[in-house]
Amino acid sequence: MSNEVTRFRTGEDQQLTQRFAHRAELMQASEIRALFAVASRPEIVSLAGGMPNLSALPMEMMADVVDKLIKENGTEALQYGSGQGHPKLREQICDVMALEGIRAHPDDVIVTTGSQQALDLISRIFINPGDVVLVEAPSYVGALGTFKQYEANVVHVEMDENGLVPEALRAAIEAVRKTGQEIKFLYLIPNYQNPAGVLLPADRRTEILEICAAEKIFIVEDNPYGLLGFDRPSPNAMRAQDSENVIYLGSFSKTIAPGFRVGWALVPQSLKEKLVIAAESSILCPSNFTQLSISGYLADQPWRDQIASFCKLYKVRRDAMLESLEQYFPEGASWTKPGGGFYVWVTLPPEIDTTALMPKAIVAKVAYVPGTAFYADGFGSWSMRLSYCHPTPERIREGVRALGGVIRTEMENRAII
Ligand code: PMP
Repeated sequence: MSNEVTRFRTGEDQQLTQRFAHRAELMQASEIRALFAVASRPEIVSLAGGMPNLSALPMEMMADVVDKLIKENGTEALQYGSGQGHPKLREQICDVMALEGIRAHPDDVIVTTGSQQALDLISRIFINPGDVVLVEAPSYVGALGTFKQYEANVVHVEMDENGLVPEALRAAIEAVRKTGQEIKFLYLIPNYQNPAGVLLPADRRTEILEICAAEKIFIVEDNPYGLLGFDRPSPNAMRAQDSENVIYLGSFSKTIAPGFRVGWALVPQSLKEKLVIAAESSILCPSNFTQLSISGYLADQPWRDQIASFCKLYKVRRDAMLESLEQYFPEGASWTKPGGGFYVWVTLPPEIDTTALMPKAIVAKVAYVPGTAFYADGFGSWSMRLSYCHPTPERIREGVRALGGVIRTEMENRAII
């Protein structure tokens, strides 16, 4: 009997998969997702995942916030809310954005389930199959996956150690326009970029804004790491200079905790209604419970000090990673030197394929993300992303030492050194 049930289920499943819509074919697990299962084994030092380090978050304090919310305002917290997000939280979000020079009205803020949802909604609203989306080279894997699902033609634009190169942006726009394709928007992460760790300086921000305004291309500024600068505050957000041509995405995932799944979009007025309707069709309304938890935390707790504690914790780990890269990585490897955020981007000689190298790294008990995950076009095979946010400094040193050994052996085998 149980066999029959199994057979029936299998047949049924096949029929279902044959009925998938075309867009479902484009839904594929990211390289990072597949890696997580291996990287999370306790014996492996994972320099792969970008999970925030919640060891610096006082859980008693969070418990107090949630306890107070349920006791004093449970009926609202556990009720449906508005599609645009809770008005009080939207006001507080404006205070948070003021730290990066943004003057905004709460009416123009839409609360989302993490900024990932905002990326999805914006893609849904703007991207027709074949439209070009310009992104940095490399770019955030979660955004690339979303753009791909909406059948965008993702075009990467060169970066250097100071982020997106304005000259390269001009050239990319010209090249795309010659092919007759429509450029929908430029997506970029100006602060401590994921995956490259670099920061776009103020003068480049202005230049890129000017180029995009002149070319009538709007900008999606994704800024989850802006308040995580270790040595100095990051320059003002691009949205602070241009409220018409920039859609700004923020998130509490890195400054408070990702489990709340609270992010937001600050949008020009003409986009707001569509965005709220699109959000309502996928989630009806963002969770009142998590929004009000964040709101209570921002109202009652020293959240600026908490961000400073996070920065202190990540800075020690960044230092451990940069020092051990210097010590253990062979000549011929180079890497970025992040002033904040979670990531270092390593470039190896072009003969080294970091995807093929991964099994050897796992044997040496260390994991990273191969560079191709951050390109829509298969590029990046000789680079890798290392994240320092989660392991202890000792484990980071251990992991970088092991990885340095694997890379050195590979370079020797290929007679590069
Ligand atoms: N954008 C970037 C650049 C990210 O690194 C992340 C998280 N890794 C996100 C968006 C999504 O963040 P969340 O949905 O947790 O707000």
